[in-house]
Amino acid sequence: MEKRDYYEVLGVEKGADEQTIKRAFKRLAMKYHPDRNQEPGAEEKFKEINEAYAVLSDAQKRAAYDQFGFAGVDPNQAGGGFGGGFGGGFGGGDFGDIFGDIFGDVFGGRRGGSRRAQQQRGADIETIVEITLAEAAKGVKKTVEYSTYVECPDCHGTGGEAGSKTVDCPYCHGSGVQHIRQGFFAMEQPCPHCQGSGKKIDKPCKKCNGEGRVNKKKSIEVTIPAGCDTGNRLRISNAGQAGRNGAPAGDLYVVIQVKPHEFFKRDGLNLQVDVPIPFTTAALGGQVEVPTLDGNVNVTIKEGTQSGSVMRLNGRGIRSIRGGRVGDLYCRVVVETPVKLSAEQKEILRNFEKSLNGGETSSKEKKSSVEHSPKVKSFIDNVKNFFNDIKGA
Ligand SMILES: [Zn+2]
Ligand SMILES: [Zn+2]
Repeated sequence: MEKRDYYEVLGVEKGADEQTIKRAFKRLAMKYHPDRNQEPGAEEKFKEINEAYAVLSDAQKRAAYDQFGFAGVDPNQAGGGFGGGFGGGFGGGDFGDIFGDIFGDVFGGRRGGSRRAQQQRGADIETIVEITLAEAAKGVKKTVEYSTYVECPDCHGTGGEAGSKTVDCPYCHGSGVQHIRQGFFAMEQPCPHCQGSGKKIDKPCKKCNGEGRVNKKKSIEVTIPAGCDTGNRLRISNAGQAGRNGAPAGDLYVVIQVKPHEFFKRDGLNLQVDVPIPFTTAALGGQVEVPTLDGNVNVTIKEGTQSGSVMRLNGRGIRSIRGGRVGDLYCRVVVETPVKLSAEQKEILRNFEKSLNGGETSSKEKKSSVEHSPKVKSFIDNVKNFFNDIKGA
C-alpha cells in the first residue's frame, strides 16, 4: 500500500490541535478496528490509522514529520511495531499497548470484560522455498518445511490438564480489567494475566504451559505456478500459527526464491544467454547450438557476425504467470579467439593476415585491411580525432 500523508489518513487539517487529532483517530479506529470490521482492507486501514496517530500524537515526532515528512520518522517506531511485517505477525493481541493506552477510556469495561479478548487469531508466518529457473518456468510441486504453533495434543487447545477448572483470574478478580493511573488520566486496559478474559485455568497443561498450543515442525506440499519469480508469495490460508482458544489459524506465506542459473539470466519474462562461437564461424557464417529451456536449438550465424551482437529467439523465454504472454530468449554472441595454436596454424593465420593487408606485412601499410575490420577503422579514426582535439585546444 502506498504511504499516505498522516494528516490525510486521519482526515484532519495540518494545523489541527491535539484534541481534534485524538477525536479523528478514535472515530476512525473504532470504525476499522478488526474486532468490529471484518471487511477486506479494514486491518490495513487500521494499521495505517495507528501509525499516523502514533506520530501526530507525539509532539516531537509530529514536529519531525512536519519538517521532514516520512524521512523524519522511523516507520517501524511510528507503527508501534505494526510496521514490522511478518515474523512478528499481526495477531489481534498485538494491538494491546497502543490500544490499551488510548482506548482505555473509550472501550473501558466493555472491552475489558469481552470474551473475545482471549480469542486470538494465529500469527501469519513466512517461509522461503528455493527453486531452479527451470522449475520457475515450468511450475513445480514442492514440499515446504516450516515450524509453527499447532494445537497442543495433550489438552486439545484448552490449555488445562484433565479435570482442571476455569476460575476467576486472581489478579483482576474476574473483571478482566487492569486500572492504571498516569498523571491526570485514569485508564483501563485488559488484564495482562488473563488477556482480559477474567478467567484462568487452575491446573494449566504441562506440555504447553497453559498456552493451548505447541511449536511443531510441519511440511506442506505447495504447487508453484509456472512463470513465478523471486519475491512472489503464495498464501496458504490457515496454515500459519494456530489461534488461541478456538480462534482461526494465521496464514502461511511461501516466498519464492529462484536460484541463479549457470548461464541463463532472467529479466522479467525474457532470458539472456551468452553464446560463444569460433571466430571462423563468426567470419564465415554457420550453425551453432543454443541452449533453451526446452533443450538445444540450432541457430544460423550470419557471415561477418560481430562479437556482442544479439539474436532474439521469439517465444523462448518464460510464460507469464497469468498465462498468455511468453518472453523471448536473447542470445549474445561472444566470438572466441583461438588459443594453443600450432606453428602451422599460426603460419596459416599470418598468411591470412597478409591477405587482408593486400599482400603487405608491414603494419604501417594496412590500408586495405580496414575494409575487413570496420570497427577497427572507426576506432582508429576516433582516436586520431581525439588527439587532434587535444592539440587544437
Ligand atoms: Zn496443552
Ligand atoms: Zn485477569
